[in-house]
Amino acid sequence: MKPVSEFSKLDKAFDSAKFSSKLSNIYRRLKTTSSDGKLEEMEPYLTQAFYNSLSEESAALAKKGRVLYTERITVLGVDLKGFEQADGFDYIFADVRVRAVEYIADIKTHQRIKGDADEQFSTVLVKLKRESGRVSPQLSGISAQNCPYCGAPVNINKTTKCDYCGRILNTDSFDWMIDSAQVQ
Ligand SMILES: [Zn+2]
Repeated sequence: MKPVSEFSKLDKAFDSAKFSSKLSNIYRRLKTTSSDGKLEEMEPYLTQAFYNSLSEESAALAKKGRVLYTERITVLGVDLKGFEQADGFDYIFADVRVRAVEYIADIKTHQRIKGDADEQFSTVLVKLKRESGRVSPQLSGISAQNCPYCGAPVNINKTTKCDYCGRILNTDSFDWMIDSAQVQ
């Protein structure tokens, strides 16, 4: 693994502080949307493999009438550990330090079934993935693009959802995807 400070040689517009704050925001939203059964809102920010594994986990719990519920989540900090390149992709590894209450709850009432009612501290190792050779997009005022799922034209200034296939679109300039997230 190489230090993230060297990543700017590959991507001049890469900004560690912006990347960290975006990751912090995405991680918090990932936990709250999955608590609320709205994981599909996060699909643009997750690799297909990671999205599928999270969907399967929550579907298995839902079958038993349960949900992994996260409350009062605060991301205390993000530490970028380094980057690697492999098979045409760039990977950035980050420790996300979290304080939250997390337990297995009833899917309808959100009443706690199993797990701690108190806030716990944890560190999650997050691996982010992007095609090698891509660089951080500058905000360019581009207003139209195509839906990555069905190819239909969409005006990203007007909508965050594709009118044709109904998928939720990533309308910001963050083009990294979470490939895995492991509690340390
Ligand atoms: Zn579409």
